[in-house]
This record gives sequence, C-alpha cells and structure tokens, in this order.
Amino acid sequence: MVGLAEPLGAVSPKATAESQDDARFTVEARFYEKQAEKRIQCKLCPRACVVGDRERGYCGVRENRGGTYYTLVYSRACAAHIDPIEKKPFFHYLPGTMAFSVATAGCNVNCKFCQNWDISQSRPEQVPANYAPPARVAELARQSACPTIAYTYSEPVVFVEYLMDTADAGHAAGIRSIVVSNGYIQEEPLRRAYGKMDAVKIDLKSFSESYYRQVVSGQLKPVLETLVALRRMEKWLEVVYLVVPTLNDSEQEFRDLARWVKGNLGVDVPLHFSQFHADYLLKNLPITPVATLERAKQIADAEGLHYVYIGNVPGHPAENTYCPKCRKMLVQRAGLQMTQMLIRKGACPFCNHAIPGVWHV
Ligand code: SF4
Repeated sequence: MVGLAEPLGAVSPKATAESQDDARFTVEARFYEKQAEKRIQCKLCPRACVVGDRERGYCGVRENRGGTYYTLVYSRACAAHIDPIEKKPFFHYLPGTMAFSVATAGCNVNCKFCQNWDISQSRPEQVPANYAPPARVAELARQSACPTIAYTYSEPVVFVEYLMDTADAGHAAGIRSIVVSNGYIQEEPLRRAYGKMDAVKIDLKSFSESYYRQVVSGQLKPVLETLVALRRMEKWLEVVYLVVPTLNDSEQEFRDLARWVKGNLGVDVPLHFSQFHADYLLKNLPITPVATLERAKQIADAEGLHYVYIGNVPGHPAENTYCPKCRKMLVQRAGLQMTQMLIRKGACPFCNHAIPGVWHV
C-alpha cells in the first residue's frame, strides 16, 4: 500500500475529518449534463451514472448538490510518493528518473485483486488527506527534482479535474505529466484530460468481457477504444496485463491479446506481463508462476511484438530492453532500478536501429 507521504507534509497539516469537509476540495465537475428534477448524468466514464439530488455516483467521489455535480477530491491528495518511473511501470519513458506521484480516494471499477483497495474503494471522508492544490504539487515536484508528476495508485479518471489543472501547473513549471489508468473513460474527457498527458500507461486487465464483468466490474470494449484513441493522439503509451492464475492466463487469451495489440497499437508499444500477488478479494489464488509469464512473453514475441516485458519478478532478464534487430541488450534493469543504459540518440548503438521511446529529459 502506498504511504501517506512525507512529500505532502510541507503542504499543510494533515486534514482532520472536520476540515476535510472543506469547500477547498469541492469544485464543479467538468463532464456531466443536467437533467430534469435536479438529476444529472455523469459523462466522465462509461458507467454514465444518473445521479439524483444529494446522491453520489458509483465512484463515491462525485456528488449532486441541488442539480449541480461536484467533485469532492479536488486537491485532496490521500497519497503521495516519489517513485522510480519504472514502478508505474514506464520502461521507455525517461528511464532512471523519479516521478512525483499523487492520488485521491475513489475508483470507477472494483478489481478483486486491487492492491490499493483501501484508498480506491473508499469515500473521500474515509481516508486522511492533505490539501495539495495543483500549483503546490507542481512546486513540490520541481523542488524534488522530479521531471514528471504521476497520477496513480487509485484511478485518476475519477479525479480528472485535479489531474487537468495539476498538469497545466506542472507544464508551466517545466514538469511533465504521466498517468497510470484503467482507461475506463468516455471519449471527450479522454481527449481533453489525457490530451494533457505526456505519457499514458493503461492497465488492460484481461482480453475477455466476462473477466471484466466478473473480476473488474467494468467492460473491456471501452478500454480497447481508449487504447486506440490514445494511439491516434500519439501519446507515449505502455500497456500492462496482470496475469492472474486460472482467471486470465490461457494461451489463447495471450495470443488474442498480442494479435490485437499488433493490429491496433503496433509492434512497438511496450507490453508488460505482470506477476499477480494475492490481495484484497483474491487471497485464495497463488502467485503467478514465472513459467506462465514466460509463456505469455513467448507467445507475444512470436506474434511479432518488439518490446514484451515480465514485471514484478526482480532480476528476470525480461525486465531488460533488447534491440529487436540485433538482439543486444540496451537497457538493463534490476527490480525498479535502471542499472545500465546504452541507447544513444534514440537508437541502438550496435546496429543503429531506432528504439521508440523518450529516453532523456
Ligand atoms: S466517473 Fe463516477 S460518477 Fe461518473 S460515471 Fe464514472 S463512476 Fe459514475
């Protein structure tokens, strides 16, 4: 679980339950439509919640007050950390740098394996938070020498207004923005909010609708549409697939996934197969065997993807980046640390093959 962070200690004293009910955290939502009898329809994620007066949407962080919809988590940072960018994971975006990472409470799905369930499945009043307005986050990132602000840990879709304004504040201070998301978002907020991001990592949790329904409480199709849209927007994109034993680990699913990625996103999008560790509502399942992850990689490699990684297995050779042309190792990693970087001017120094990514600040 992410800690409540020292980086925000300087922002303000930790909010008390009383002070958390503060107007500072409550601003009008940006993506919704007013309806009859003070109802609203949220236009932020595919759930499209219709919310009556004094009620909240599914994510629990947006509330209808008299026919106007509000986010309750603007500047309400319940977690912040300075993390290696490899932890997100981004492997082809500013490797070896640190990301100033923030989150609020709330999520628009309910993954049974969530590692951060205590903030993602909580209402804002249930978790301690700090007042961290966008300009302050940008300033802290700059003071900490982080070239990026990362929106992560819970689900950034549900704190989209805070993300948008923090990205603007960050850019004004020369700090880039990156997001770690489930991609469960409607098209307009995707364009307007993730359009402000410099890099995006999407957790594609399975390649089957039934898994999305039963394990995630969401849908696959809108996530695939998000991935295609991000590709068109020319955002730097990486995809993570958490391999959960017995639930989404069939060879057929790995093959279908790899073919879809190749056909819709291209062979150069990094695909990370991550190891599952029992958590939250799936404590009955074992850790993903390394052999299963290796089989997934083998299948995706055979389908022609160029950058297929194995994640959460520190020291595994598939944490490294290899040139798809001459096969030489170009970036060496050990766990979350980059230990060697040989890419020069965006290319392999041995055969000059271009390696896609953003390699230097
Ligand atoms: S963002 Fe929240 S309120 Fe809006 S549609 Fe999604 S779950 Fe419902």
